[in-house]
Amino acid sequence: MKEVGAASKEAMLKARDMIKPGARILDVAEAAEKFLRDKGYGLAFPINLSINQQAAHFTPTLNDDSVFPEGAVVKIDFGAEKEGFLSDGAITLDISGRNAKMVEAATMALDNAISHVRAGAEVCKIGGVIDETITRMGFKPVKNLGGHGVEEHDLHAGIFIPNFDNRDDTVLEEGEVIAIEPFVTDGRGLVVNSDACEIYSYLGGVSLRSSDSRKLLEYIDSNHPTEPFAVRWLSNVIDSKFRLYAAVGELVRAGAIEPHNGLIESGNGMVTQAEAELLVQKDGCEIITK
Ligand code: MN
Ligand code: MN
Repeated sequence: MKEVGAASKEAMLKARDMIKPGARILDVAEAAEKFLRDKGYGLAFPINLSINQQAAHFTPTLNDDSVFPEGAVVKIDFGAEKEGFLSDGAITLDISGRNAKMVEAATMALDNAISHVRAGAEVCKIGGVIDETITRMGFKPVKNLGGHGVEEHDLHAGIFIPNFDNRDDTVLEEGEVIAIEPFVTDGRGLVVNSDACEIYSYLGGVSLRSSDSRKLLEYIDSNHPTEPFAVRWLSNVIDSKFRLYAAVGELVRAGAIEPHNGLIESGNGMVTQAEAELLVQKDGCEIITK
């Protein structure tokens, strides 16, 4: 786990160093993903590069030619996979420096939460620490996003770690692997689905009418049976972009793949994020994504 944690951290920093106003988002995404693949790792999920009011789950489309805007606040959320072990971590890059305090609120909330992680700690208490830290700095936590347990080939397993005190008295257990991810905003503190959807995960085989969607599902079944994938990773299966996206739509309607829509702040607020994956220990924790 430490190996995938260190690898994805390195990939995130590589992405961060490439992000400049005017740089193509797709170039950064492909470079970071290639970096992990070249080192022999799988990807726990497509790199998320979510900008400004976008909170999470944004990754470039196929042949995306959009660029990072001036002053962008970019959440880089990424993870590696090896033999089913998954890492998950995130950092925020504030290009202009104008949102430094909001970035600091996310990292401070994460650090304070980490200092409370130990076997027996209640998840609502950790959420409370996150909320207090963020509120004290004049912002709001995003309440409908949070941390999660991480298990073999399962990035969101079992436990949920809220970003506020939700009164859930579930306790952390020794040996459990969790991700904690405070999201900070000056908006409403809630995210909603956007229409954009580039990330999906495989649910299972179904019978399909068109040959495009049958071919696509066969490819997904062989190449992306467990971890989420991006539509742009499927370009070699169907050569027309229009037909590829049509087939993806058909797989969603048939219940063969699950969409993970882009999430945007409902009050149009700016969003920052910090995330680390941790191993819960008797008297504390060890940070895996170092
Ligand atoms: Mn993440
Ligand atoms: Mn996560």
